[in-house]
Amino acid sequence: MDKEKCISCAKIIANDISSVKLKCPNCGEIIIRCSACRSKGTEYKCKCGFVGP
Ligand SMILES: [Zn+2]
Ligand SMILES: [Zn+2]
Repeated sequence: MDKEKCISCAKIIANDISSVKLKCPNCGEIIIRCSACRSKGTEYKCKCGFVGP
């Protein structure tokens, strides 16, 4: 099983209960963000090139 990592800072989110998973609206890839990046509003960039808030 793959370790789930934040897409913005690459932190492993296994112990982060406030992390979120969402689907890229462009390609449907699962995007994971940790609580820190979420609260800071850090952008994420999918491998398809989509950048989201
Ligand atoms: Zn993060
Ligand atoms: Zn995508």
